[in-house]
Amino acid sequence: MEVCYQLPVLPLDRPVPKHVLSRRGAISFSSSSSLFGAPDPRQLSQRRGAISYDSSDQTALYIRMLGACVVFKQLFARDVRVRSQVGFEPERRSSHPYLCIDFRTLHTRLSCGALSADSGTEKRVHRLLSFQRYLHSSRLLRGIPQQIPLHILDEDYSGQARCMLEKVGNWNFDIFLFDKLTNGNSLISLTLHLLNQYGLVDLFQLDMVRLWRFLVLVQEDYHNDNPYHNSVHAADVTQAMYCYLQEPMLSKSLTSYDILLGILAAATHDLDHPGVNQPFLIKTDHYLARLYRNTSVLENHHWKSAVGLLRETGLFSHLPAEDSLNMERDLGSLILATDISRQNDYLSRFRTHLDQDSLCLANGSHRHFVLQMALKCADICNPCRPWELSKQWSEKVTEEFFQQGDIERKHKLEVSPLCDRETNTICNIQIGFMTYVAEPLFGEWARFSDTRLSQTMLGHMGLNKASWGGLQQEQTAVSEEAELSTADPDAGESRSKEIPQGSRES
Ligand SMILES: [Zn+2]
Repeated sequence: MEVCYQLPVLPLDRPVPKHVLSRRGAISFSSSSSLFGAPDPRQLSQRRGAISYDSSDQTALYIRMLGACVVFKQLFARDVRVRSQVGFEPERRSSHPYLCIDFRTLHTRLSCGALSADSGTEKRVHRLLSFQRYLHSSRLLRGIPQQIPLHILDEDYSGQARCMLEKVGNWNFDIFLFDKLTNGNSLISLTLHLLNQYGLVDLFQLDMVRLWRFLVLVQEDYHNDNPYHNSVHAADVTQAMYCYLQEPMLSKSLTSYDILLGILAAATHDLDHPGVNQPFLIKTDHYLARLYRNTSVLENHHWKSAVGLLRETGLFSHLPAEDSLNMERDLGSLILATDISRQNDYLSRFRTHLDQDSLCLANGSHRHFVLQMALKCADICNPCRPWELSKQWSEKVTEEFFQQGDIERKHKLEVSPLCDRETNTICNIQIGFMTYVAEPLFGEWARFSDTRLSQTMLGHMGLNKASWGGLQQEQTAVSEEAELSTADPDAGESRSKEIPQGSRES
């Protein structure tokens, strides 16, 4: 494909938001002395591993502490290992009675705890060794930057994974298989591949060590014990985003800056997701809910987490400060658009543009709006994938919902909608989601980008909805049968022929 290689046109005329500029309450993470002045040691000890919080103006800047400052003087590999041991800190600030909920163990099951711990250790060791191999090879190859990415691929990718990447723009791309072939590193592998394929590493003069470290930390910050909101979901969204960026309406108008932003936003859009939703954080009085005043709590956290990693790794530290601040702001604007509770705002704006044919993609703000819509589509495109992939995603997201419901019930909280495994089924959740959320969005997207891909997505969604409908009918018939059998033991045999057989599920 044709790649837009012009130098990025960074919008320099927009005001920089206060929350980005403000440095109050921030803690440095790049060295033992702060970027913004020496921190108060007492603050350091209080805030380690948490979100800095300025109560006077609600200004927050996400800072991830890796433990004691001495850690920053150690090797990157050591950093990664320490980080993965820090994890998500339990709630500490609240006086709420549900303080006892330990967010580190939300989805830990006693029956598989030991196994998870072992495999987690193995995974960390693998990543540690891979990283050390990379550091070694990067030293050897210093001065031949164009060969570094390929060298990394040769070291860590199996031949099958590389073959898959040749078809990364295929809508049937099996991200679960790709994750297995990359030994759980699908997000790092895919994102790095896409950035290289677009020539963005060279164009933006990204330092490969910093980029690699950034991607490792991004992947590490996803919680892989979440059934759904984990790094594979982020990789899946990134792959979908790539498919949309390739669509003619976008590819002919987006700048390299837009593409870089779109890929980074997709990769980081759910960073450090705790596996529970915003209502849960609000009802448990979690400090993130307080910090963001109960508004787009998770999305704000994902954004600030991404900003924290960008600054921690210095990925854009070679750019003028104003440009990197603009990048952080635009990244936030994209990630915040994934707040599903604001879907109607975006959708009605999109619909108005399409009705009036008023989208002008030479206009930077219009291009940014289209990127927002593309990321929203990528984030909820599971129903539009082929059934074999779509069904797996449906099972995973439902399990995450139900696990939250189990926690709520255990702590005598009101069980959130869709989270009660006793009153919901995967079928009715999926049919409702498609009907009220996905179909309206992808219908408008198909008006905007009337392509084969859009028709393919709508086609899959129709078939998947019919399959869930068929399964729902089967389940209803089976439960009715069971009730009848309980009431009249002789009725079961005569009614069994009435069970619908229409589903594709076998
Ligand atoms: Zn997501």
